[in-house]
Amino acid sequence: MPDMPDLGCPPEIPDSAIANAIALMETGRLHRYAEAGGSGGLVAELERAFSRLMGRRYAAAVNSCGSALFLALKAAGVRPGDPVLLNAFTLGPVPGALDHAGATPVLVEITEDLVIDLDDLRQKARVSGARVLMLSHMRGHLCDMEALTALCNAEGITLIEDCAHTLGAAWNGRQAGTFGQSACFSFQSGKHVNAGEGGMLITDDADVAAQAILHSGSYMLYAQSGTPPPAEAMARWHRRCGNYSMRMGPLVAALALPQLSLLPERVADWNASHDRIAARLASVPGFALPHRPEAESYAQSSLQFRLPDRSLTEMRAYVDACRARGVWVKWFGAEIPEGYSSNPAQWPGVEAIDAPRACAIQVTLCDIRLPLGLSVEACDAIADVLIEAATVKERRHASA
Ligand SMILES: *Cc1c(COP(=O)(O)O)cnc(C)c1O
Repeated sequence: MPDMPDLGCPPEIPDSAIANAIALMETGRLHRYAEAGGSGGLVAELERAFSRLMGRRYAAAVNSCGSALFLALKAAGVRPGDPVLLNAFTLGPVPGALDHAGATPVLVEITEDLVIDLDDLRQKARVSGARVLMLSHMRGHLCDMEALTALCNAEGITLIEDCAHTLGAAWNGRQAGTFGQSACFSFQSGKHVNAGEGGMLITDDADVAAQAILHSGSYMLYAQSGTPPPAEAMARWHRRCGNYSMRMGPLVAALALPQLSLLPERVADWNASHDRIAARLASVPGFALPHRPEAESYAQSSLQFRLPDRSLTEMRAYVDACRARGVWVKWFGAEIPEGYSSNPAQWPGVEAIDAPRACAIQVTLCDIRLPLGLSVEACDAIADVLIEAATVKERRHASA
């Protein structure tokens, strides 16, 4: 067996980012705001660069994507007890943000292509009366964003996009994160930009930006924002928004900033590995891969596949067999959540599991992370393991 690459290996921190961080530490100024007329420093610079990159007016830098999601809900007017729609395939911090805001989650089904089911969305919106959708582009899969936007407009639903897996992705040439009222990104090590922790909320709405900046904890120094909303918008909110201390610090910005220009080459690298392994798996009977529509350009730093014919017990055996062969497969079907993966039955605050199809799909759903820089040989070795491990069951049957 060839040595397997470490699938958990995060994107490399460029030398220029390390130099930025050291220079910053030498000044000791590791808080973003300064009373005596600071300029906002590196965090403000990152906000400007990110808003330019995404083509949105405002960017508010915070300490995590989970914080950004919470602030987006607050700014959308969600109050404790309000129902909020969310697709029943996502990561724990997303239902966690709803829990934080006191919202009541309304789960929406997904399709076998791992995207939100628009018919179920319409129905759940009507039945629950929910007026906000927290849409996670989970694992980088985009639904038909034109159809979704039309549905949201027709039903009066405010869209918040969770773009933790879609920095660099687009639908028909329009970037993910530019369809909703606001969109949230993660700079956590496992995502497209590795700054350890960190998040960004982007919006074109001055009132949303004002609330996010104030709630994130700008004291009265919000004019040092990289993309300050007009003074009237700040004046509307500045006595009404509590300080939740969710700011990004300049050390994180120092690490994140030089990585923005690396995104196109990173995306090409991830997609090449993804497409090579996906093509191998798709050719093997028993494996099912999500269909990728032509309108979607993805930034696929992970790969999803299902073994739809398997039972829960068989899935566990498959996952164990892959791991024993050196490939850390994640699984969304485990009864007890492990690592980063969980399913709706395990989310706090979710009382009624009203998304049985999404739950059933996740029982046979696996996932691997794709580190940058995989050689074609490494991709093939990974694919070999994923395929080989699937034959273990058959062999056992044959010898029985
Ligand atoms: C990682 C992740 C988040 C949260 O990001 P943090 O920066 O860790 O808070 C939200 N949604 C999805 C889909 C994620 O994978």
